[in-house]
Amino acid sequence: SISHGFTQRDQLQRKVGRVPVGISGRRLRIVVTGGAGFVGSHLVDKLIGRGNDVIVIDNFFTGRKENLVHLFGNPRFELIRHDVVEPILLEVDQIYHLACPASPVHYKYNPVKTIMTNVMGTLNMLGLAKRIGARFLLTSTSEVYGDPLEHPQKETYWGNVNPIGERSCYDEGKRTAETLTMDYHRGAGVEVRIARIFNTYGPRMCLDDGRVVSNFVAQAIRKQPMTVYGDGKQTRSFQYVSDLVEGLMALMEGEHVGPFNLGNPGEFTMLELAEVVKETIDASATIEYKPNTADDPHMRKPDISKAKELLNWEPKIPLREGLPLMVNDFRNRILNEDEGKGM
Ligand code: NAD
Ligand code: UDP
Ligand code: UDP
Repeated sequence: SISHGFTQRDQLQRKVGRVPVGISGRRLRIVVTGGAGFVGSHLVDKLIGRGNDVIVIDNFFTGRKENLVHLFGNPRFELIRHDVVEPILLEVDQIYHLACPASPVHYKYNPVKTIMTNVMGTLNMLGLAKRIGARFLLTSTSEVYGDPLEHPQKETYWGNVNPIGERSCYDEGKRTAETLTMDYHRGAGVEVRIARIFNTYGPRMCLDDGRVVSNFVAQAIRKQPMTVYGDGKQTRSFQYVSDLVEGLMALMEGEHVGPFNLGNPGEFTMLELAEVVKETIDASATIEYKPNTADDPHMRKPDISKAKELLNWEPKIPLREGLPLMVNDFRNRILNEDEGKGM
């Protein structure tokens, strides 16, 4: 098939160390849905840097033009305001499908819209991939494991998810998106890739998106107490965004469908995270306890042996090195905000 042809050519190109090219020898053209968001904008930077043509599709629900403004005017970059719930016609070689709010505060804001984005949005992008013979990568989530009864989580674990809870629009939405992806692969022969992403942080996260790393960092900079939900003994494993972007690209270019866990196995309680933020930003930072949200997973840590073995990928940046890398970006944006208020 044509898409098989791409694969061999891509491999050849990689061997000779040149930029991958698409059909008819032109540069590889890539769609990134959700490319104006946190992860998407970093991915776009890396793809443009590698010499690819990139089209971003985003409805700016949680994404911002500021994340991409440095690319405006670049002839290899295009930004389309579009909602993936609606069909779209494009001609591309690869589709990175990221469009979906990721923070619990955002995805619970309009849960029906979140489900629609995950189901209709993913269906449309798979329909597009099928029509044009493009390779499709889904950014799924560690949330498919729910409140896991297996620890750490391997890809073979089927999860422990509440189908009727406040988080279900996201968890079940992503589970359905994985199902659709595999059905298009088996039924229509679409070349697909599935990544299960674990908690990721870095510059360009929304300042007030309610996720724990962005909350603690913004609170410490603003000299407000860090809000610890529940007893703070629940755990998460935090991955720096550049590690994730490398993992997504290795997955797209590799030969394996997945699903693959992409995350950093370094596991922290929320109290330990608060301690690291304190060491990094302000030794006098304090914490304040708040009631926890419903169905909060008690622990989460990826088993990444599969990605290590088959994608030759593993994260390089531990939390204590990654946190300082987002602090300047947060400081600048908080400063601008304060100046805006003063005017
Ligand atoms: P984000 O909210 O910063 O980015 C999501 C982007 O998708 C935004 O630019 C938003 O405007 C856009 N979007 C949302 N709904 C859309 C729609 N209907 N049509 C078009 N665009 C739409 O989130 P992120 O952290 O960058 O996450 C990116 C992807 O990675 C998401 O699919 C998320 O589920 C997944 N993921 C992220 C994490 C993480 O820790 N960041 C963890 C697991 C999975
Ligand atoms: N689709 C799209 N762009 C395309 C091809 C399809 O947005 O280039 C949408 C299409 O509108 C449909 C979905 O993807 O809603 C699934 O397409 P498919 O061809 O698999 O299913 P069908 O249209 O036959 O129901
Ligand atoms: N959390 C917290 N304080 C905050 C925000 C979140 O203690 O200000 C906790 C939350 O209860 C959860 C963990 O941090 O146990 C991770 O939450 P987040 O929303 O970042 O991501 P999740 O992994 O739940 O999707």
